[in-house]
Amino acid sequence: MSTDSTDEATHADLIRGAAAYLNPIEIAGRLFGNVAAIAETPDGRRFPGVCIDTPCGTGFCAEAAAIGAMVTAGEQRIARIVAVWRDPGTGRLHVLPPCGRCRLFVSQVHPDNLHRTRVILGDHEATALADLIPSHEWPAPLDAAF
Ligand SMILES: [Zn+2]
Repeated sequence: MSTDSTDEATHADLIRGAAAYLNPIEIAGRLFGNVAAIAETPDGRRFPGVCIDTPCGTGFCAEAAAIGAMVTAGEQRIARIVAVWRDPGTGRLHVLPPCGRCRLFVSQVHPDNLHRTRVILGDHEATALADLIPSHEWPAPLDAAF
């Protein structure tokens, strides 16, 4: 993990941007929109998304929704990504690290994303996506013959 003190202002801007899309609504006992994300391209285009928790197994995270909008617009490279959730009890905003599925999803949308995407983990913290995916390199062949 690395601290990006020089990027704090822009991290805050991205965090605030994602928070603006929070719009929790309960539908049939499932929460929609209680997590919001923004995927930002290298040229600064920003694509928001919210989580959609459906019971059919095809529900998806806010990051996936944001990336879907981004890819629909013809973009695949992600410079930065952030997801936020506001605790309804305290009203405090939290930056959420991406789940394992989203980490892999970001890495597979474009090969550059593995090392170039910065995952925002807080107002003072960000890291390369590769740091969040252990053993991500394609493995060498085994020494023994099988
Ligand atoms: Zn996820």
